[in-house]
Amino acid sequence: MARDLSDGRGAATGESGGRAARLLADLERAGEVVTDPDVLASYSHDQAGPGMVAVGRPAALVRPRRTAEVQAAVRAAARHGVPIVPRGAGSGLSGGAAAIDGCLVICTERMTDLVELDPASLCARVQPGLINAQLGEAAAGHGLRYAPDPASFEFSTLGGNVATNAGGLCCVKYGVTRDSLLGLEVVLADGSAVRVGRRTRKGVAGYDLTALFCGSEGTLGIVTEATLRLMPEPPAPATLAASFESVGAAGAAIARISAAMAPAVLELMDRTTLAAVERMAPQGLDDEGIATLVFACSDAPGAAALAEVERMAGFCEAAGATLTVTTDEAAEGRMLMNARRQAHPALERLGATLLDDVSVPLGAIPALLEGVEAIGARSGLTIGTFGHAGDGNMHPTIVYDAADPGEVERARAAFAAIVELALELGGTVSGEHGVGSLKLPFLDDELGAARPLQRAIKRALDPAGVMNPGKAI
Ligand SMILES: Cc1cc2nc3c(=O)[nH]c(=O)nc-3n(C[C@H](O)[C@H](O)[C@H](O)COP(=O)(O)OP(=O)(O)OC[C@H]3O[C@@H](n4cnc5c(N)ncnc54)[C@H](O)[C@@H]3O)c2cc1C
Repeated sequence: MARDLSDGRGAATGESGGRAARLLADLERAGEVVTDPDVLASYSHDQAGPGMVAVGRPAALVRPRRTAEVQAAVRAAARHGVPIVPRGAGSGLSGGAAAIDGCLVICTERMTDLVELDPASLCARVQPGLINAQLGEAAAGHGLRYAPDPASFEFSTLGGNVATNAGGLCCVKYGVTRDSLLGLEVVLADGSAVRVGRRTRKGVAGYDLTALFCGSEGTLGIVTEATLRLMPEPPAPATLAASFESVGAAGAAIARISAAMAPAVLELMDRTTLAAVERMAPQGLDDEGIATLVFACSDAPGAAALAEVERMAGFCEAAGATLTVTTDEAAEGRMLMNARRQAHPALERLGATLLDDVSVPLGAIPALLEGVEAIGARSGLTIGTFGHAGDGNMHPTIVYDAADPGEVERARAAFAAIVELALELGGTVSGEHGVGSLKLPFLDDELGAARPLQRAIKRALDPAGVMNPGKAI
């Protein structure tokens, strides 16, 4: 049972308090309604670096189970002029799900049905709260795979993945979320529900609204169902790890591999990240000659996988690799890749982290890595870089003390310098995490004259501006 928001919080006063009370009285059909201040606080932020984005106090949280309940919540918020913040698991890294003062958080985490899995048509229909890994497990039962694999696959929702167009390790070969998205059901800002897209593999009738909603970060509507493409489970991969004395040599190897073949994984870790991983789990990564490690996989059938990673090893050696290791043993491959998977947790052990996700053209990777090293030296902060080298999508991760205002400021300045460097190199402010509110200040520099057009699209779909205002666009 909802209760008056002004109880014990002291936030909802005057006009905003009255609006909140009217909203609550109007939410009967919106599923579970939560106003407990402690619960609201835990649903008010995402995983963006502490102190880096504004976090407001929501008026209420609803956790619907059905599309009709989402519609009721959106209609109530629209009637009372209350901003809506859509939310999945809250694992976003750019403040996209951060609450706005007096907002209604509509969290789709309880909409967890796998509505349909159709092995003959290689597709699945899911509610938005289903976790990425849960779809993966269900698909594996039919010898199938859902390709997009953000590192958060065990806890992020498919609705959140669609809303951010999430990427991951396998995207270099199999594409990002949008490439696996066939259709959507979306609740629009006026509370109407619309179906866009289709379940066929091909289809060009009308504008591609499915692609438009994908990556719109909850600013155009709330995803209540997604039709997703599945693929046959690829064969077990063979794996390569190669070490380099310079980022330039690693960059040259990445360029050669990318020009010659389509690796299933092509990742990179810099010296600072290697040192952090070594500190967390000693495994000999701190040898003098290792400045950068490159990891690659091939999932070609049978013996072709090992042959392909050996060919990649040849490219690495020609580019100056100091050591290459290849294997088609599953356990050994997992062990090699484990160092890469430990990158983010290892950096998190050093302090608060501000994880960036700039993306640059492949040829600019060495310039980006060298530039980030220089920014780290200037700022006096630890910045470890790892990421999806085959996509040019890097995660320079700034370590800082969130309790020290001076250090928070220096982290913010270093972050801005990295984003500006990526833009100078012809890159983008966000390769996969989304703009949220964290990257909004840099958007003009990337979108330029196209930003008014983007805003016109937002106004056409959300004229009153209730859907996640102040985010993404
Ligand atoms: C350890 C870690 C590793 C990560 N690794 C990756 C990675 O490899 N690749 C990657 O791309 N991201 C990664 N992320 C970021 C994050 O997991 C993704 O952005 C993910 O897609 C967010 O899903 P979520 O359910 O947590 O959404 P939330 O964080 O709750 O929301 C994200 C955005 O989507 C909107 N949204 C959520 N649900 C809906 C809905 N139903 N309808 C409309 N809008 C909605 C929100 O308003 C917000 O703007 C990582 C995060 C962490 C913490």
